[in-house]
Amino acid sequence: MKRLCVICALILSLTACGGSAAPAKLDFFAMDTVMEFSAYKASENLLAEARDIVMDIERRVSTTRETSEIYALNRDGGGTVSPETAALLDTALSMCRVTGGAFDVSIYPVVRAWGFTTDEYRVPSYDETAALLEHVDYARIRVSGDAVTLPDGMEIDLGGVAKGYAGREAAAYLRRHGVTSGLLNLGGNVQTIGSKPDGTAWRVAIRDPNDDTHYAGIVEIRDKAAVTSGGYERYFTADDGQTYWHIMDPATGRPARNGVISATVIADDGALCDALSTALFVMGAEKAERFWRNHPDFDMALITDDGEILVTPGLTYEPVEGVPYAVRTLEA
Ligand code: AMP
Ligand code: MG
Repeated sequence: MKRLCVICALILSLTACGGSAAPAKLDFFAMDTVMEFSAYKASENLLAEARDIVMDIERRVSTTRETSEIYALNRDGGGTVSPETAALLDTALSMCRVTGGAFDVSIYPVVRAWGFTTDEYRVPSYDETAALLEHVDYARIRVSGDAVTLPDGMEIDLGGVAKGYAGREAAAYLRRHGVTSGLLNLGGNVQTIGSKPDGTAWRVAIRDPNDDTHYAGIVEIRDKAAVTSGGYERYFTADDGQTYWHIMDPATGRPARNGVISATVIADDGALCDALSTALFVMGAEKAERFWRNHPDFDMALITDDGEILVTPGLTYEPVEGVPYAVRTLEA
């Protein structure tokens, strides 16, 4: 319920429509989260077709559904996948490469060891995570057309990229069917189509990672995706009093704790935003800034555990009054 409220509250902008007819809306549950689709000059039927695209992606790439293509790959050590799943895997692998393995789709056995796939949370020993890390290395995945081969003991998980990819695909479908203004909220992964009907930008709120009753700030975007990775999305507190979250550092096999507590990425391609938000969270602020300087085709807002928000200069970012973070805009 808490999660539902947060997601509902995330979007500030849906009601401001500058006199246009009300948008069509559709809310549904997929990929473990509540999704809200909204589009102007669209029918509810069209939104239902866009929802089915998301459902279909979930059906193919879920790690836990025994009928999914990824489940079969993990069980059998490889196999043939649909062209759509091969394309998503290809995108994910290119993000693994470009981030130098901060994003790594083969992290799945580690995620499972911490209990995040079953909600039976536990803190594995260093020996256990070290042993599991032997099987983590995206570079050893072989893809040839639609045929995928995983080395012994490896299992993959597209959970760090699937929602952003689904948003991108759903938006592309709606655009093909004439939608020029819409907002798709896939549980904190926001994908916009065009701008608001009155021509102004969509305003997307970023949660305060330290306080789920507040926003930290608002970004203005048009026809882009904004995707946030935060430890607050999924975590548990262990007997040792420590909080452990679902974003793993492939270098250690333990939850990534490199100073970034929320990473938002804004770019045209939602799949890229999703993989990158996970990767920048893992990298920490310094490496993330370096990465951005080498790949300046996206914007980001990173909240650090020492109270800063690092914002790239291309981003229209509006801090929320009273929130205790110092905004630092990176130099171009
Ligand atoms: P996100 O919420 O997009 O940051 O993705 C987090 C999800 O991606 C987790 O629930 C895991 O399933 C998976 N994951 C965790 N750590 C990584 C990582 N370093 N690289 C790729 N996927 C990850
Ligand atoms: Mg992600």
